[in-house]
Amino acid sequence: MLPGNSRFRRLSQAVLSRSQFLQLAAGALLPLAGLPRSAAAAKNPELAQNGDAPGTKDAAAPDRMGAILVNQFGPVKIHSYLSPLDGFHVNTQMIEGPTAVVIFDGQLLLPYADEVASYVQTLGKPVDRIILSHAHTDHWAGLQVLTERFAGARVFALDGVADPIRARGKARLDSFRPIYGDRIATRITAPTETITEGLQRIDGITYDFRRFVDAEADLQLAALLPEQKVLMAFDLVFSPNEHAFTVVDHFDHWMIVLEQLKALQGYDTITIGHDTPVHRSAIDSTITYVKRAREIHAASADAKTYSESLKAAFPDRQLASMVDFSAKLLYAARR
Ligand SMILES: [Zn+2]
Repeated sequence: MLPGNSRFRRLSQAVLSRSQFLQLAAGALLPLAGLPRSAAAAKNPELAQNGDAPGTKDAAAPDRMGAILVNQFGPVKIHSYLSPLDGFHVNTQMIEGPTAVVIFDGQLLLPYADEVASYVQTLGKPVDRIILSHAHTDHWAGLQVLTERFAGARVFALDGVADPIRARGKARLDSFRPIYGDRIATRITAPTETITEGLQRIDGITYDFRRFVDAEADLQLAALLPEQKVLMAFDLVFSPNEHAFTVVDHFDHWMIVLEQLKALQGYDTITIGHDTPVHRSAIDSTITYVKRAREIHAASADAKTYSESLKAAFPDRQLASMVDFSAKLLYAARR
């Protein structure tokens, strides 16, 4: 289900509900040295309860590892691919218009990007372009597959997103390789085209592209669909059910950005970078999280203290193992 979001639910041709999605996630390996699978399941009643329940697969694609949600707004369909837990629950959004598909973000792991590509092919429309929201590896690594399978599709991003990928992307991939082996990309795929801010029409759909700095990442795109009243917030907003990534020390400005998103009137449906779409109340819960993380960061001398305190502050949020990952990067940057 999509908590508090009746509009999305009503329009949904949902293939998998949230709880069904989590059942699939429960079957995935955890990505990092953190919680073992059983501990994660025990911490989360939903995972524990549904662990190996049958009937969780999409009938149309019984072997698919990720989950797809489809939501229709008139002539526009938003297809959301959600990776299993070991792929960080990353979302790839596929915006299907009358004649083409626009793909946002490319997954962390190659097999999940491959599932995205196979799904897009079932839509029977060409990929107009691929747009990358920000320079974090979990969103661009899988572009290797998408650019291979849609060779004509150019990759766009805001000016400034490609540079850190070119500079540090290889090191990032190398750091994931001991964990994921051949499931992680073998080469970097950086955007080659620049997306400009403001209103643009692509395949008859109006987009309002916004640029935000110093929030979850140094630089990040948000895309508004003013006619559908959908805000694509990517990693600016997190689900109230999951820990946010706090990998850079931009807590204060991130909260300012969230207030700016909150001021956008009428955007009740928000697609996010990780997990299923949320209601706008998730902006408030993200503010609460970032504020507490800022306090804990100020009071914590090392990554371990930060991580343990943050997990203790939000014991009900999933992806606890990701807090260790965030803390490592946050404190490495501080040195
Ligand atoms: Zn992310």
